[in-house]
Amino acid sequence: TSFSQLGLAEPILKALTAKGYDTPTPIQAQAIPPVLAGRDLCGIAQTGTGKTAAFALPALDHFVRHPKPTPIQGCRMLVLSPTRELAAQIAASFREYSRFVRLSVETVFGGVPIGRQINKLRAGVDILVATPGRLLDLIDQRAVTLRDVEIFVLDEADQMLDLGFIHALKRIDKLLPRQRHTMFFSATMPKAIAELGDRFLTDPVKVSV
Ligand code: AMP
Repeated sequence: TSFSQLGLAEPILKALTAKGYDTPTPIQAQAIPPVLAGRDLCGIAQTGTGKTAAFALPALDHFVRHPKPTPIQGCRMLVLSPTRELAAQIAASFREYSRFVRLSVETVFGGVPIGRQINKLRAGVDILVATPGRLLDLIDQRAVTLRDVEIFVLDEADQMLDLGFIHALKRIDKLLPRQRHTMFFSATMPKAIAELGDRFLTDPVKVSV
């Protein structure tokens, strides 16, 4: 399979060519078609498998085909990451894959002053990559709302639980629209993670690499 056979929109294919990617990795080949068809996804995959593109590419495809509706305030996509390093990497990947698409990507995480992040969000953002605690602080300060989120990704769910984010995740879950498209990734799937997945996902396709 090639990326064009997967049915991704032209500006995304162009960005992949510019990056020198020609063949989807196994998780990309398995995940992208059902996600493009609108299915929720539960992926068991480690870092290094190409999982970031597996969720970023079909999401960007959606935004290419469905430009921003009437002026909405909130972000259209939320990606939750357990660490700031991973959040920064995910945002960098989104920026590369969306270089031929007009979309804004921002990252927010703890451990740095919140004021600058509030300013960044004020201008509006399409794709927000966040760590859970700082996201909730920003929501509490009314710097961002989740009510317009169309696509939600929870990355490295096992790490999230290890780092004690369960309470934050439950709060975020309550703030997300019921009707949305969700992708959930974890390197391992013990019972506690599977239960967390059940909370977020609706009839997901399961992919394991
Ligand atoms: P990830 O598992 O998302 O952290 O990705 C691991 C690495 O593989 C990253 O450096 C990506 O840029 C790279 N990568 C992802 N998909 C592909 C692909 N289809 N072809 C070549 N490299 C890729």
